Amino acid sequence: MAEAISHFINGHTAAGTGDRFGDVYDPATGRVTARVPLASAAHVKRAVDAAAAAFPAWAATTPLNRARVMFRFKELLEAHAGDLAKIITSEHGKVLSDARGEVTRGLEVVEFACGIPHLLKGEHSMNVGRDVDSWTEYAPLGVVAGITPFNFPAMVPLWMFPVALACGNTFVLKPSERDPSASLFMAELLKKAGLPDGVFNVVHGDKVAVDALLDEPRVQALSFVGSTPIAEYIYARGSANGKRVQALGGAKNHMVVLPDADLDGAVSALLGAGYGSAGERCMAISVAVCVGDATADALVATLAPKVAALKIGPGCLDPEMGPLVTGAHRDKVRGYVDAGVAEGASLVVDGRRHVVDGHAEGFFLGGCLFDRVTPEMTIYREEIFGPVLCVVRVPDLDSALRLVNEHEYGNGTAVFTRDGGAAREFAHRVQAGMVGINVPIPVPMAFHSFGGWKRSIFGPLHVHGPDGVRFYTRLKTVTARWPDTHAAEFVMPTMK
Ligand code: NAD
Repeated sequence: MAEAISHFINGHTAAGTGDRFGDVYDPATGRVTARVPLASAAHVKRAVDAAAAAFPAWAATTPLNRARVMFRFKELLEAHAGDLAKIITSEHGKVLSDARGEVTRGLEVVEFACGIPHLLKGEHSMNVGRDVDSWTEYAPLGVVAGITPFNFPAMVPLWMFPVALACGNTFVLKPSERDPSASLFMAELLKKAGLPDGVFNVVHGDKVAVDALLDEPRVQALSFVGSTPIAEYIYARGSANGKRVQALGGAKNHMVVLPDADLDGAVSALLGAGYGSAGERCMAISVAVCVGDATADALVATLAPKVAALKIGPGCLDPEMGPLVTGAHRDKVRGYVDAGVAEGASLVVDGRRHVVDGHAEGFFLGGCLFDRVTPEMTIYREEIFGPVLCVVRVPDLDSALRLVNEHEYGNGTAVFTRDGGAAREFAHRVQAGMVGINVPIPVPMAFHSFGGWKRSIFGPLHVHGPDGVRFYTRLKTVTARWPDTHAAEFVMPTMK
Protein backbone atom coordinates (compact mmCIF):
# COMPACT_ATOMS: atom_id res chain seq x y z
CA MET A 1 0.00 0.00 0.00
CA ALA A 2 1.51 3.32 -1.07
CA GLU A 3 2.05 5.83 1.73
CA ALA A 4 -0.07 9.02 1.60
CA ILE A 5 1.98 12.22 1.74
CA SER A 6 0.51 15.33 3.42
CA HIS A 7 0.68 19.07 2.93
CA PHE A 8 2.08 21.10 5.86
CA ILE A 9 -0.10 24.09 6.65
CA ASN A 10 -0.09 26.33 9.73
CA GLY A 11 2.30 24.09 11.64
CA HIS A 12 0.42 20.84 11.02
CA THR A 13 0.28 18.12 8.43
CA ALA A 14 -2.85 18.36 6.32
CA ALA A 15 -4.03 15.34 4.38
CA GLY A 16 -4.80 15.94 0.74
CA THR A 17 -8.49 16.10 -0.02
CA GLY A 18 -10.01 15.84 -3.46
CA ASP A 19 -9.32 13.41 -6.22
CA ARG A 20 -6.03 14.58 -7.69
CA PHE A 21 -2.97 12.59 -6.62
CA GLY A 22 0.41 11.84 -8.19
CA ASP A 23 2.60 8.75 -7.90
CA VAL A 24 5.99 8.88 -6.18
CA TYR A 25 8.42 6.13 -7.21
CA ASP A 26 11.44 4.40 -5.79
CA PRO A 27 13.57 4.87 -8.93
CA ALA A 28 15.79 1.91 -8.04
CA THR A 29 12.89 -0.57 -8.14
CA GLY A 30 10.41 1.26 -10.35
CA ARG A 31 7.71 0.69 -7.71
CA VAL A 32 5.21 3.33 -6.56
CA THR A 33 5.97 4.02 -2.89
CA ALA A 34 3.71 6.97 -2.10
CA ARG A 35 0.84 9.08 -3.35
CA VAL A 36 1.23 12.82 -3.29
CA PRO A 37 -1.83 15.05 -3.17
CA LEU A 38 -2.01 17.63 -5.95
CA ALA A 39 -3.34 20.78 -4.31
CA SER A 40 -6.31 22.70 -5.61
CA ALA A 41 -6.43 26.51 -5.55
CA ALA A 42 -8.39 26.20 -2.28
CA HIS A 43 -5.48 24.34 -0.60
CA VAL A 44 -3.05 26.98 -1.78
CA LYS A 45 -5.33 29.68 -0.39
CA ARG A 46 -5.32 27.93 3.02
CA ALA A 47 -1.52 27.92 3.03
CA VAL A 48 -1.36 31.58 2.03
CA ASP A 49 -4.00 32.42 4.68
CA ALA A 50 -1.74 30.79 7.29
CA ALA A 51 1.37 32.56 6.02
CA ALA A 52 -0.41 35.94 5.85
CA ALA A 53 -1.75 35.57 9.39
CA ALA A 54 1.71 34.62 10.72
CA PHE A 55 3.52 37.47 8.95
CA PRO A 56 2.96 40.47 11.29
CA ALA A 57 4.27 38.67 14.40
CA TRP A 58 7.19 37.05 12.54
CA ALA A 59 8.20 40.34 10.92
CA ALA A 60 8.08 41.98 14.35
CA THR A 61 10.29 39.24 15.88
CA THR A 62 13.75 40.70 16.28
CA PRO A 63 16.30 39.63 13.65
CA LEU A 64 18.40 38.00 16.36
CA ASN A 65 15.48 35.89 17.59
CA ARG A 66 14.68 34.87 14.03
CA ALA A 67 18.34 33.91 13.62
CA ARG A 68 18.16 31.85 16.83
CA VAL A 69 15.45 29.71 15.24
CA MET A 70 17.82 29.22 12.28
CA PHE A 71 20.62 28.17 14.65
CA ARG A 72 18.34 25.52 16.20
CA PHE A 73 17.20 24.42 12.73
CA LYS A 74 20.85 24.08 11.67
CA GLU A 75 21.58 21.81 14.66
CA LEU A 76 18.53 19.65 13.91
CA LEU A 77 19.39 19.45 10.23
CA GLU A 78 22.93 18.35 11.11
CA ALA A 79 21.63 15.74 13.55
CA HIS A 80 19.18 14.39 10.96
CA ALA A 81 21.30 14.81 7.82
CA GLY A 82 21.52 11.03 7.37
CA ASP A 83 17.74 10.59 7.63
CA LEU A 84 17.14 13.38 5.13
CA ALA A 85 19.69 11.90 2.73
CA LYS A 86 17.89 8.53 2.88
CA ILE A 87 14.58 10.22 2.05
CA ILE A 88 16.21 12.00 -0.92
CA THR A 89 17.74 8.77 -2.23
CA SER A 90 14.50 6.83 -1.85
CA GLU A 91 12.50 9.25 -4.04
CA HIS A 92 15.12 10.86 -6.30
CA GLY A 93 17.43 7.88 -6.78
CA LYS A 94 20.78 9.68 -6.36
CA VAL A 95 23.44 7.79 -4.42
CA LEU A 96 23.49 8.23 -0.66
CA SER A 97 26.81 10.07 -0.40
CA ASP A 98 25.63 12.53 -3.09
CA ALA A 99 22.39 13.07 -1.16
CA ARG A 100 24.52 13.79 1.94
CA GLY A 101 26.48 16.29 -0.14
CA GLU A 102 23.26 17.99 -1.17
CA VAL A 103 22.20 18.32 2.47
CA THR A 104 25.61 19.77 3.37
CA ARG A 105 25.37 22.42 0.64
CA GLY A 106 21.85 23.29 1.82
CA LEU A 107 23.03 23.49 5.43
CA GLU A 108 25.56 26.09 4.41
CA VAL A 109 22.69 28.39 3.42
CA VAL A 110 21.16 27.91 6.88
CA GLU A 111 24.53 28.88 8.37
CA PHE A 112 24.53 31.96 6.16
CA ALA A 113 20.97 32.77 7.29
CA CYS A 114 22.12 32.62 10.95
CA GLY A 115 24.24 35.71 10.22
CA ILE A 116 21.61 37.66 8.29
CA PRO A 117 21.02 40.28 11.02
CA HIS A 118 24.39 41.68 9.91
CA LEU A 119 23.13 42.10 6.34
CA LEU A 120 19.85 43.71 7.41
CA LYS A 121 21.72 46.70 8.80
CA GLY A 122 20.97 49.87 6.91
CA GLU A 123 23.20 52.84 6.20
CA HIS A 124 23.09 56.10 8.10
CA SER A 125 24.13 59.58 7.03
CA MET A 126 24.35 62.30 9.64
CA ASN A 127 23.57 65.88 8.71
CA VAL A 128 22.47 65.49 5.12
CA GLY A 129 20.94 68.95 5.71
CA ARG A 130 20.88 71.24 8.71
CA ASP A 131 19.52 69.08 11.60
CA VAL A 132 18.57 66.43 9.08
CA ASP A 133 19.69 62.77 9.16
CA SER A 134 18.95 59.99 6.70
CA TRP A 135 19.03 56.21 7.03
CA THR A 136 17.98 53.07 5.20
CA GLU A 137 16.11 50.02 6.43
CA TYR A 138 15.54 46.61 4.84
CA ALA A 139 11.95 45.49 5.41
CA PRO A 140 10.56 42.01 4.74
CA LEU A 141 8.10 41.69 1.84
CA GLY A 142 5.35 39.57 3.43
CA VAL A 143 4.27 36.18 2.11
CA VAL A 144 6.76 34.79 -0.40
CA ALA A 145 6.69 31.50 -2.29
CA GLY A 146 9.18 28.97 -3.64
CA ILE A 147 8.60 26.51 -6.49
CA THR A 148 11.33 23.92 -6.77
CA PRO A 149 12.57 21.15 -9.10
CA PHE A 150 13.01 17.41 -8.53
CA ASN A 151 16.77 17.28 -8.81
CA PHE A 152 17.68 18.81 -5.44
CA PRO A 153 14.63 18.21 -3.23
CA ALA A 154 16.41 19.54 -0.12
CA MET A 155 19.15 21.90 -1.35
CA VAL A 156 17.10 24.06 -3.71
CA PRO A 157 14.34 24.77 -1.15
CA LEU A 158 17.20 25.50 1.30
CA TRP A 159 18.58 28.10 -1.16
CA MET A 160 15.35 30.01 -0.56
CA PHE A 161 13.46 29.63 2.71
CA PRO A 162 16.24 30.10 5.31
CA VAL A 163 17.10 33.46 3.73
CA ALA A 164 13.46 34.50 3.31
CA LEU A 165 12.55 33.53 6.89
CA ALA A 166 15.63 35.13 8.46
CA CYS A 167 14.69 38.36 6.65
CA GLY A 168 11.25 38.28 8.32
CA ASN A 169 9.03 36.87 5.56
CA THR A 170 6.64 33.94 5.78
CA PHE A 171 6.90 31.20 3.18
CA VAL A 172 4.84 28.81 1.06
CA LEU A 173 6.88 26.08 -0.63
CA LYS A 174 5.60 24.10 -3.61
CA PRO A 175 8.23 21.37 -4.04
CA SER A 176 8.49 18.98 -6.97
CA GLU A 177 5.68 16.45 -6.93
CA ARG A 178 8.21 13.78 -7.98
CA ASP A 179 10.14 13.77 -4.66
CA PRO A 180 8.01 15.70 -2.15
CA SER A 181 8.99 14.11 1.19
CA ALA A 182 12.23 16.02 1.88
CA SER A 183 10.38 19.34 2.19
CA LEU A 184 7.89 17.85 4.62
CA PHE A 185 10.75 16.50 6.74
CA MET A 186 12.35 19.96 6.82
CA ALA A 187 9.00 21.54 7.79
CA GLU A 188 8.85 19.23 10.83
CA LEU A 189 12.42 20.17 11.79
CA LEU A 190 11.59 23.89 11.52
CA LYS A 191 8.66 23.34 13.86
CA LYS A 192 10.93 21.51 16.33
CA ALA A 193 13.35 24.42 16.05
CA GLY A 194 10.62 26.71 17.38
CA LEU A 195 9.39 28.34 14.19
CA PRO A 196 5.88 29.68 14.89
CA ASP A 197 3.00 27.96 13.10
CA GLY A 198 2.15 29.42 9.70
CA VAL A 199 5.61 30.91 9.04
CA PHE A 200 6.58 27.97 6.80
CA ASN A 201 4.04 25.97 4.81
CA VAL A 202 4.33 23.24 2.18
CA VAL A 203 1.72 22.56 -0.49
CA HIS A 204 2.27 19.76 -2.94
CA GLY A 205 1.00 19.97 -6.44
CA ASP A 206 1.44 20.67 -10.11
CA LYS A 207 0.53 23.51 -12.46
CA VAL A 208 -2.78 24.11 -10.66
CA ALA A 209 -0.99 24.92 -7.39
CA VAL A 210 1.70 26.96 -9.15
CA ASP A 211 -0.89 29.03 -11.03
CA ALA A 212 -2.77 29.65 -7.79
CA LEU A 213 0.45 31.04 -6.25
CA LEU A 214 1.15 33.13 -9.36
CA ASP A 215 -2.31 34.70 -9.21
CA GLU A 216 -2.59 35.06 -5.42
CA PRO A 217 -2.37 38.81 -4.70
CA ARG A 218 -0.93 38.29 -1.20
CA VAL A 219 2.16 36.49 -2.52
CA GLN A 220 4.70 39.29 -2.84
CA ALA A 221 7.61 37.41 -4.37
CA LEU A 222 8.26 34.11 -6.11
CA SER A 223 11.50 32.16 -6.34
CA PHE A 224 11.48 29.46 -8.99
CA VAL A 225 14.07 26.87 -10.00
CA GLY A 226 13.34 24.43 -12.82
CA SER A 227 13.38 24.11 -16.59
CA THR A 228 13.63 27.16 -18.86
CA PRO A 229 10.16 27.04 -20.48
CA ILE A 230 8.51 26.97 -17.05
CA ALA A 231 10.92 29.59 -15.64
CA GLU A 232 10.02 31.93 -18.49
CA TYR A 233 6.31 31.33 -17.89
CA ILE A 234 6.64 31.93 -14.12
CA TYR A 235 8.59 35.13 -14.71
CA ALA A 236 6.09 36.50 -17.23
CA ARG A 237 2.93 35.67 -15.29
CA GLY A 238 4.34 36.52 -11.86
CA SER A 239 5.75 39.85 -13.06
CA ALA A 240 2.51 40.71 -14.88
CA ASN A 241 0.78 40.17 -11.54
CA GLY A 242 3.12 42.69 -9.91
CA LYS A 243 5.30 40.21 -8.03
CA ARG A 244 9.02 40.21 -7.59
CA VAL A 245 10.30 37.10 -9.42
CA GLN A 246 13.60 35.25 -9.65
CA ALA A 247 13.26 32.26 -12.01
CA LEU A 248 16.28 30.04 -12.59
CA GLY A 249 16.09 27.77 -15.64
CA GLY A 250 17.92 25.06 -17.49
CA ALA A 251 21.54 24.69 -18.50
CA LYS A 252 24.07 23.26 -20.92
CA ASN A 253 27.36 23.61 -19.11
CA HIS A 254 30.55 23.48 -21.18
CA MET A 255 33.95 22.49 -19.86
CA VAL A 256 36.76 23.70 -22.09
CA VAL A 257 39.93 21.59 -22.04
CA LEU A 258 43.04 23.35 -23.37
CA PRO A 259 45.98 21.33 -24.74
CA ASP A 260 48.13 22.13 -21.68
CA ALA A 261 45.55 20.90 -19.14
CA ASP A 262 46.35 18.10 -16.71
CA LEU A 263 44.59 15.38 -18.70
CA ASP A 264 43.98 12.98 -15.81
CA GLY A 265 42.57 15.84 -13.73
CA ALA A 266 40.27 16.86 -16.57
CA VAL A 267 39.08 13.28 -17.09
CA SER A 268 38.29 12.81 -13.37
CA ALA A 269 36.49 16.14 -13.36
CA LEU A 270 34.38 15.13 -16.37
CA LEU A 271 33.55 11.76 -14.88
CA GLY A 272 32.20 13.29 -11.67
CA ALA A 273 30.61 16.38 -13.20
CA GLY A 274 29.10 14.57 -16.19
CA TYR A 275 27.84 11.39 -14.56
CA GLY A 276 27.46 12.24 -10.85
CA SER A 277 23.77 12.28 -9.87
CA ALA A 278 23.21 10.59 -13.27
CA GLY A 279 23.73 13.97 -14.93
CA GLU A 280 20.60 15.36 -13.26
CA ARG A 281 22.30 18.51 -11.96
CA CYS A 282 21.80 22.00 -13.30
CA MET A 283 25.57 22.42 -12.96
CA ALA A 284 26.44 19.05 -14.53
CA ILE A 285 28.97 19.29 -17.35
CA SER A 286 27.19 18.07 -20.48
CA VAL A 287 29.67 19.33 -23.11
CA ALA A 288 33.45 18.83 -23.09
CA VAL A 289 35.01 21.30 -25.53
CA CYS A 290 38.43 19.99 -26.52
CA VAL A 291 40.87 22.44 -28.07
CA GLY A 292 42.75 20.54 -30.75
CA ASP A 293 42.28 17.01 -32.09
CA ALA A 294 45.21 15.67 -30.05
CA THR A 295 43.52 16.86 -26.83
CA ALA A 296 40.20 15.31 -27.89
CA ASP A 297 41.78 11.99 -28.91
CA ALA A 298 43.68 11.65 -25.65
CA LEU A 299 40.72 12.72 -23.53
CA VAL A 300 38.22 10.37 -25.19
CA ALA A 301 40.68 7.46 -25.04
CA THR A 302 41.17 7.94 -21.28
CA LEU A 303 37.57 8.78 -20.43
CA ALA A 304 35.69 6.15 -22.45
CA PRO A 305 36.76 3.04 -20.45
CA LYS A 306 35.98 4.85 -17.20
CA VAL A 307 32.47 5.76 -18.41
CA ALA A 308 31.89 2.18 -19.52
CA ALA A 309 33.05 0.93 -16.08
CA LEU A 310 30.89 3.27 -13.96
CA LYS A 311 29.49 1.42 -10.94
CA ILE A 312 25.73 1.76 -11.32
CA GLY A 313 23.14 0.52 -8.84
CA PRO A 314 20.52 1.46 -6.26
CA GLY A 315 21.42 4.75 -4.54
CA CYS A 316 21.07 3.21 -1.08
CA LEU A 317 24.10 0.96 -1.78
CA ASP A 318 26.12 4.09 -2.60
CA PRO A 319 27.64 3.12 -5.96
CA GLU A 320 28.96 5.83 -8.32
CA MET A 321 25.70 6.42 -10.16
CA GLY A 322 22.06 5.66 -9.38
CA PRO A 323 18.94 5.50 -11.53
CA LEU A 324 17.15 8.42 -13.17
CA VAL A 325 14.18 9.94 -11.42
CA THR A 326 11.34 8.34 -13.39
CA GLY A 327 10.86 5.87 -16.21
CA ALA A 328 9.51 8.66 -18.41
CA HIS A 329 12.62 10.77 -17.86
CA ARG A 330 14.92 7.77 -18.50
CA ASP A 331 13.10 7.14 -21.79
CA LYS A 332 13.42 10.81 -22.77
CA VAL A 333 17.19 10.74 -22.15
CA ARG A 334 17.49 7.49 -24.13
CA GLY A 335 15.57 9.21 -26.95
CA TYR A 336 18.22 11.95 -27.03
CA VAL A 337 20.94 9.31 -27.40
CA ASP A 338 19.01 7.78 -30.32
CA ALA A 339 18.73 11.26 -31.87
CA GLY A 340 22.48 11.84 -31.49
CA VAL A 341 23.24 8.60 -33.33
CA ALA A 342 20.72 9.49 -36.06
CA GLU A 343 22.27 12.94 -36.48
CA GLY A 344 25.72 11.48 -37.02
CA ALA A 345 27.56 11.96 -33.71
CA SER A 346 29.95 9.17 -32.79
CA LEU A 347 28.61 7.18 -29.80
CA VAL A 348 31.80 5.98 -28.11
CA VAL A 349 30.10 4.52 -25.02
CA ASP A 350 26.52 3.29 -25.37
CA GLY A 351 24.73 2.84 -22.04
CA ARG A 352 21.24 2.57 -23.48
CA ARG A 353 20.77 -1.09 -22.69
CA HIS A 354 22.45 -1.15 -19.29
CA VAL A 355 20.66 -3.43 -16.82
CA VAL A 356 21.36 -3.60 -13.09
CA ASP A 357 21.16 -7.16 -11.75
CA GLY A 358 18.01 -7.69 -9.74
CA HIS A 359 16.67 -4.27 -10.69
CA ALA A 360 15.35 -4.77 -14.18
CA GLU A 361 12.37 -2.52 -13.42
CA GLY A 362 14.51 0.32 -12.01
CA PHE A 363 14.98 3.51 -14.05
CA PHE A 364 18.64 2.85 -14.86
CA LEU A 365 20.65 3.99 -17.84
CA GLY A 366 24.35 3.44 -18.40
CA GLY A 367 26.75 6.31 -18.99
CA CYS A 368 26.86 7.50 -22.62
CA LEU A 369 29.71 9.34 -24.32
CA PHE A 370 29.50 11.07 -27.69
CA ASP A 371 32.47 12.33 -29.71
CA ARG A 372 32.43 14.62 -32.77
CA VAL A 373 29.27 16.42 -31.72
CA THR A 374 28.56 19.58 -33.72
CA PRO A 375 26.61 22.69 -32.68
CA GLU A 376 23.55 22.11 -34.89
CA MET A 377 22.82 18.67 -33.36
CA THR A 378 19.87 18.30 -30.98
CA ILE A 379 22.09 16.65 -28.36
CA TYR A 380 24.25 19.81 -28.38
CA ARG A 381 21.49 22.41 -28.41
CA GLU A 382 19.07 20.95 -25.86
CA GLU A 383 19.45 20.14 -22.19
CA ILE A 384 19.43 16.32 -21.85
CA PHE A 385 19.61 16.12 -18.03
CA GLY A 386 21.00 12.60 -17.96
CA PRO A 387 24.32 10.69 -17.97
CA VAL A 388 25.26 11.76 -21.50
CA LEU A 389 28.43 13.73 -22.25
CA CYS A 390 29.09 15.34 -25.65
CA VAL A 391 32.63 16.04 -26.86
CA VAL A 392 32.93 18.94 -29.31
CA ARG A 393 36.24 19.56 -31.06
CA VAL A 394 37.43 23.14 -31.74
CA PRO A 395 40.75 24.47 -33.05
CA ASP A 396 41.52 27.20 -30.48
CA LEU A 397 40.43 29.15 -27.38
CA ASP A 398 38.60 31.79 -29.44
CA SER A 399 36.46 29.14 -31.08
CA ALA A 400 35.78 27.55 -27.68
CA LEU A 401 34.65 30.89 -26.27
CA ARG A 402 32.46 31.56 -29.31
CA LEU A 403 30.81 28.17 -28.88
CA VAL A 404 30.03 28.68 -25.20
CA ASN A 405 28.87 32.26 -25.74
CA GLU A 406 26.56 31.42 -28.62
CA HIS A 407 24.66 28.76 -26.65
CA GLU A 408 21.27 29.93 -25.38
CA TYR A 409 22.06 28.82 -21.82
CA GLY A 410 24.70 30.38 -19.58
CA ASN A 411 24.49 28.74 -16.18
CA GLY A 412 27.96 27.41 -15.35
CA THR A 413 31.11 26.77 -17.35
CA ALA A 414 34.70 25.75 -16.69
CA VAL A 415 38.14 25.87 -18.24
CA PHE A 416 40.90 23.35 -17.56
CA THR A 417 44.40 24.66 -18.24
CA ARG A 418 47.80 25.33 -16.65
CA ASP A 419 47.99 28.72 -18.40
CA GLY A 420 46.93 31.50 -16.02
CA GLY A 421 46.64 34.04 -18.84
CA ALA A 422 44.31 31.82 -20.87
CA ALA A 423 42.21 31.08 -17.78
CA ARG A 424 41.95 34.78 -17.00
CA GLU A 425 40.90 35.60 -20.54
CA PHE A 426 38.30 32.81 -20.48
CA ALA A 427 36.83 33.98 -17.18
CA HIS A 428 36.52 37.56 -18.46
CA ARG A 429 35.09 36.86 -21.89
CA VAL A 430 32.78 33.94 -21.19
CA GLN A 431 29.02 34.59 -21.05
CA ALA A 432 27.94 32.52 -18.05
CA GLY A 433 26.94 33.27 -14.48
CA MET A 434 29.33 30.87 -12.73
CA VAL A 435 32.83 30.09 -13.97
CA GLY A 436 35.29 27.46 -12.81
CA ILE A 437 39.04 27.47 -13.41
CA ASN A 438 40.14 23.84 -13.00
CA VAL A 439 36.89 23.46 -11.01
CA PRO A 440 34.22 21.59 -12.98
CA ILE A 441 31.17 22.48 -10.87
CA PRO A 442 31.72 26.04 -9.62
CA VAL A 443 28.68 26.27 -7.32
CA PRO A 444 29.21 29.42 -5.25
CA MET A 445 29.28 29.16 -1.46
CA ALA A 446 26.16 30.27 0.43
CA PHE A 447 27.62 33.71 1.22
CA HIS A 448 27.99 34.39 -2.52
CA SER A 449 24.99 34.23 -4.84
CA PHE A 450 24.06 31.45 -7.27
CA GLY A 451 22.66 32.07 -10.74
CA GLY A 452 23.29 31.90 -14.46
CA TRP A 453 23.08 34.28 -17.41
CA LYS A 454 21.10 34.31 -20.64
CA ARG A 455 18.16 31.87 -20.72
CA SER A 456 19.34 30.18 -17.53
CA ILE A 457 17.70 32.92 -15.46
CA PHE A 458 14.82 35.36 -15.66
CA GLY A 459 14.97 38.28 -13.24
CA PRO A 460 17.87 40.41 -12.04
CA LEU A 461 18.74 38.81 -8.70
CA HIS A 462 20.48 35.48 -8.09
CA VAL A 463 19.66 33.21 -5.12
CA HIS A 464 21.12 33.21 -1.60
CA GLY A 465 24.12 35.31 -0.53
CA PRO A 466 23.76 39.11 -0.83
CA ASP A 467 21.34 38.88 -3.80
CA GLY A 468 19.07 36.58 -1.79
CA VAL A 469 18.84 39.11 1.03
CA ARG A 470 18.06 41.91 -1.45
CA PHE A 471 15.46 39.75 -3.16
CA TYR A 472 13.56 39.04 0.06
CA THR A 473 13.68 42.60 1.44
CA ARG A 474 12.69 46.04 0.24
CA LEU A 475 14.54 49.21 0.90
CA LYS A 476 13.12 52.12 2.84
CA THR A 477 14.99 55.40 3.19
CA VAL A 478 14.01 57.67 6.08
CA THR A 479 14.88 61.36 6.20
CA ALA A 480 14.35 63.04 9.60
CA ARG A 481 14.70 66.59 10.85
CA TRP A 482 15.07 67.35 14.57
CA PRO A 483 13.97 69.82 15.81
CA ASP A 484 11.00 70.03 13.51
CA THR A 485 10.37 73.23 11.59
CA HIS A 486 7.02 74.69 10.85
CA ALA A 487 8.07 76.94 7.98
CA ALA A 488 6.42 76.04 4.68
CA GLU A 489 8.78 75.28 1.78
CA PHE A 490 7.46 75.58 -1.78
CA VAL A 491 10.60 74.67 -3.68
CA MET A 492 12.00 71.18 -4.12
CA PRO A 493 13.84 70.46 -0.83
CA THR A 494 17.60 70.70 -1.42
CA MET A 495 18.93 70.23 2.12
CA LYS A 496 20.86 73.48 2.25
P1 NAD B 1 10.31 21.51 -14.11
O1 NAD B 1 10.42 22.83 -14.77
O2 NAD B 1 9.58 20.43 -14.81
O3 NAD B 1 9.56 21.66 -12.68
C1 NAD B 1 9.97 22.63 -11.75
C2 NAD B 1 8.76 23.03 -10.90
O4 NAD B 1 7.77 23.61 -11.75
C3 NAD B 1 8.10 21.85 -10.20
O5 NAD B 1 7.73 22.24 -8.90
C4 NAD B 1 6.88 21.56 -11.06
O6 NAD B 1 5.78 21.05 -10.32
C5 NAD B 1 6.53 22.93 -11.62
N1 NAD B 1 5.91 22.85 -12.95
C6 NAD B 1 6.13 21.90 -13.90
N2 NAD B 1 5.38 22.16 -15.00
C7 NAD B 1 4.70 23.30 -14.75
C8 NAD B 1 3.77 24.08 -15.50
N3 NAD B 1 3.41 23.74 -16.75
N4 NAD B 1 3.27 25.20 -14.95
C9 NAD B 1 3.63 25.56 -13.70
N5 NAD B 1 4.50 24.86 -12.94
C10 NAD B 1 5.04 23.74 -13.44
O7 NAD B 1 11.79 21.06 -13.73
P2 NAD B 1 12.28 19.66 -13.14
O8 NAD B 1 12.20 18.62 -14.21
O9 NAD B 1 11.64 19.39 -11.84
O10 NAD B 1 13.81 20.00 -12.84
C11 NAD B 1 14.83 19.91 -13.79
C12 NAD B 1 15.10 21.25 -14.42
O11 NAD B 1 15.44 22.20 -13.43
C13 NAD B 1 16.29 21.22 -15.38
O12 NAD B 1 15.97 21.99 -16.51
C14 NAD B 1 17.41 21.87 -14.57
O13 NAD B 1 18.42 22.48 -15.34
C15 NAD B 1 16.64 22.88 -13.81
N6 NAD B 1 17.38 23.32 -12.64
C16 NAD B 1 17.98 24.53 -12.69
C17 NAD B 1 18.72 24.98 -11.62
C18 NAD B 1 19.40 26.31 -11.66
O14 NAD B 1 19.94 26.70 -10.67
N7 NAD B 1 19.38 27.03 -12.75
C19 NAD B 1 18.84 24.18 -10.47
C20 NAD B 1 18.20 22.95 -10.44
C21 NAD B 1 17.47 22.52 -11.54
